[in-house]
Amino acid sequence: MVRGRPEVIAIETEEGVRVHCTSDGGNYATLCGMDGDDSEVGQRPANLPRSHKITCDQCFAIFMKARKYRLSDFAKVFKPVLVERDKGRASTNAE
Ligand SMILES: [Zn+2]
Repeated sequence: MVRGRPEVIAIETEEGVRVHCTSDGGNYATLCGMDGDDSEVGQRPANLPRSHKITCDQCFAIFMKARKYRLSDFAKVFKPVLVERDKGRASTNAE
């Protein structure tokens, strides 16, 4: 990850290399739900292009949808986790 920029990941499929937002939990590597390293579904990790710009249309669609929500739309149970992440420390519900 480049300091000050969000984490991204490059994955190659039969359609070529695309750069995705990373996932922040669960079993998926990307925000759009790709494993990122599964030959059975034709996904392989790839080197990041120099620009590091996100090129996945599904990640973009999720981003555009999520922008419509505010922190106040979420239940209080999530807020302690978000505050810890904003401080730059990793935090999970398991800690
Ligand atoms: Zn994606």
